[in-house]
Amino acid sequence: MTDSAQGFSAARRLVDLAEAVRADPGLPRTGLTALLARHGENPADLTPGAFTEADAADLRAAARRMADLLAEPDEDRSAEALNALFAQYAARPRLTRHDGHPWHLHVDRGDEAGWGEWFLAAGALALAQLLTEHGRIVWGACAAAGCGRLFLGGGPGSARRYCSGTCATRERVAAHRRRKRAEAGAAGAAGARAAEAAETGAAEAAGARAAAGTGAEAATGPWSGAGR
Ligand SMILES: [Zn+2]
Ligand SMILES: [Zn+2]
Repeated sequence: MTDSAQGFSAARRLVDLAEAVRADPGLPRTGLTALLARHGENPADLTPGAFTEADAADLRAAARRMADLLAEPDEDRSAEALNALFAQYAARPRLTRHDGHPWHLHVDRGDEAGWGEWFLAAGALALAQLLTEHGRIVWGACAAAGCGRLFLGGGPGSARRYCSGTCATRERVAAHRRRKRAEAGAAGAAGARAAEAAETGAAEAAGARAAAGTGAEAATGPWSGAGR
C-alpha cells in the first residue's frame, strides 16, 4: 500500500464509522467492533475486556464529532476544525508499522489515548492528508433532501454533492419538478395579470365608447334633429 492508499483506507474507516453512528446514534458496542474489525483492527483489541462499553460510548461521541466535521462544506472552516483536533488530540508524528501494514504515520497519543482520542487524531490526520493531496474537500454529507449520508470521493470533476447516483438522480428529478411548478406558477400569475389588464382595458374602452357615444349623440344631435 502506498502512503495515499493508507491515508485513504484510514479515511474510509473514519467515514464508515462516522456514518454508522450518524445513522444510528446508539450503535451498540458489537456494531462498532464489527466495523473496526472490517477495517483491519486487531480482534484481540476488540474483546469486551479491551473495548468496553465505556470505550464504545467514547468512540460514539468522537464519531459524532467527526460526522459534524465531515458535513462542513467550507474548506477553510474544515481546515480550522482539523487544526483544532490536532491541537487537542495529536501527539508528535511518528512512523509506525503494525498488523502487517507498511510504515505509516500516526499522530495519536498511542496507548495513553482512549478510543475516542485515537479516532479523532487518526481521523484528522486522514482528512488532512486528503485535503492536502487533492487541494480541496473530497468528502461531505449528501445534499439530497432527507438523506445526509456521509461520503468520501476524490474523483475528478466538480465537487461531489450526493452520496450515490440514486440520490443525484432523485434530486435532479425533484429540481426539474420544482422548476416546472415554478414556471407553471409564473405562467398562471402572468395569465391572471393579463386577464385583469384585459378587463381593465375593456372597461376603459367601454368608458371611452360611452364618452364618445355621448359626444357622438351630441354631435349627431343636430343631424338627427335635422333629420326629423
Ligand atoms: Zn496504524
Ligand atoms: Zn444521499
